[in-house]
Amino acid sequence: MAVVGLRDAAWQQAKIGAETLLDSLTRTLARDFELYGLSLQAVADRLSDPILEDVSPQVRHLALFDRAATASGYGAIFVLDAQGDAFLDSGSLVSRRVNGADRAYFQVHRDSDVGLFVGRPWRTRISGREMIPMSRRFSYADGTFAGVVVGAIELAYFEAVFARLNRNLNLKITVLFHGGSAITSGQVPAQYPVADPLDAQTLSAIAKAEHITLISSVAGAEALHVAHRVGTLPMHVVVSVPIGTINSAWQGRAIALVSIVGTLAIALLCLLQLLRGELRRRAAAEAELAALALTDALTGIPNRRHFDRKLAELESVSLHEPCALALIDVDRFKAFNDHSGHPAGDLVLKAVGADLAKCAARAGGIAFRIGGEEFAVVLTGVEEACAQKVAHACRESIEALALPHALSPLGIVTVSVGLLYADRRPMMAQTEWLSLADAALYEAKRGGRNQVRTIDNVAGKTETSRASSRLIAPEELLSA
Ligand code: GH3
Ligand code: MG
Ligand code: MG
Repeated sequence: MAVVGLRDAAWQQAKIGAETLLDSLTRTLARDFELYGLSLQAVADRLSDPILEDVSPQVRHLALFDRAATASGYGAIFVLDAQGDAFLDSGSLVSRRVNGADRAYFQVHRDSDVGLFVGRPWRTRISGREMIPMSRRFSYADGTFAGVVVGAIELAYFEAVFARLNRNLNLKITVLFHGGSAITSGQVPAQYPVADPLDAQTLSAIAKAEHITLISSVAGAEALHVAHRVGTLPMHVVVSVPIGTINSAWQGRAIALVSIVGTLAIALLCLLQLLRGELRRRAAAEAELAALALTDALTGIPNRRHFDRKLAELESVSLHEPCALALIDVDRFKAFNDHSGHPAGDLVLKAVGADLAKCAARAGGIAFRIGGEEFAVVLTGVEEACAQKVAHACRESIEALALPHALSPLGIVTVSVGLLYADRRPMMAQTEWLSLADAALYEAKRGGRNQVRTIDNVAGKTETSRASSRLIAPEELLSA
């Protein structure tokens, strides 16, 4: 679409350029020829004025030939008698010897009154320069032929006009001279300049028209021609534009346009690819960030925030399936830190965290670090016996790690566990889950630490015996 637009615009531009030049050329030539024609008319009119009969040759010369007609670019004006002999000459007081009886500009007026005659270019006998003859008849009082006033415009004059008006070197100008006082059909006009002449078909098409636009081949190359008649004279001006220059104007731009569009499309694809990669990276980074936000930095297991979410879930999940919450607290950890130092304490917390995570995972549960040396394990869809098993397994597993603890009665790190088991309880708030499990943990601590206590006053406990396909049997747990 854009390419078609470019082509149309280039053609439009070429036509407008050619038409504009053509218009100024024809106007300029028409006006100058008209003025020169009027000068010849003036000479013819004054010739019959009786006042000039008795004056000196100098006065008569001054009266007949005005300055305009003798300006550069114009030839001398001669007045020829009925036999064609010159008897008056604008260029000399005593007329130069010229006879025009054999010339068209003479014969046409002798045979009839045709007004202004504009001939074909010819080389003058006097100056040897190429000229366009222009002539008018003058008559006696009774209308009989008395002679001819003839002048000429130099072809060089056209060159000057062309050079002034045609600043576009791609445009070629041709003037066609039909030779006569009117354009007669079938006559082949003289062309100026003669290089790369137009073909006969183009010439006859132009000769018939006041104004015409056509395409034809000149010197083997196609060209767009616009032609217009110069006023009412037997002359046409033709402005030609080689089609190659029109095409190269829009094709060059079209190629540039196509390559720009292509480059843009490729750049866009690359950009899309980059964007897709960036979005993937960002999504991955966001997922990583989200995971980080829910992970404890020291132990690498789910953190307190994650635990709070899980507790919120338990509020509704526990309506449909049995759930258990175990709170696990490292025994006498302050003493450990005080004795072995904080960094050693961190290593213990890491080991405990990793161990609890494994224990929880075996029963399909999750372990969290919910405070300094406090952990939690959440189990869903398990029987009470299984929950008990997991709680005990956690305590035993930490004991089995046998991490040295100088200030502990056994000499190793131990944990106390408070377990809350709830089987499809009516709605229980998060805080209630925590405080009940914490109560059990407190009992374990009070009971001497390194032990498991289960809260025993939780409603709904009587339903634990009810079998459910979603419950995990203790045997299953052991074999895991
Ligand atoms: P109890 O057996 O009754 O639980 O006694 P405890 O000393 O374990 O309990 P207490 O709450 O008095 O002390 C907890 C200690 O845990 C206090 C603090 O020094 C330690 N602690 C908390 N967070 C961290 C941690 O991130 N790193 C280390 N190394 N120690 C921590
Ligand atoms: Mg504590
Ligand atoms: Mg403690």
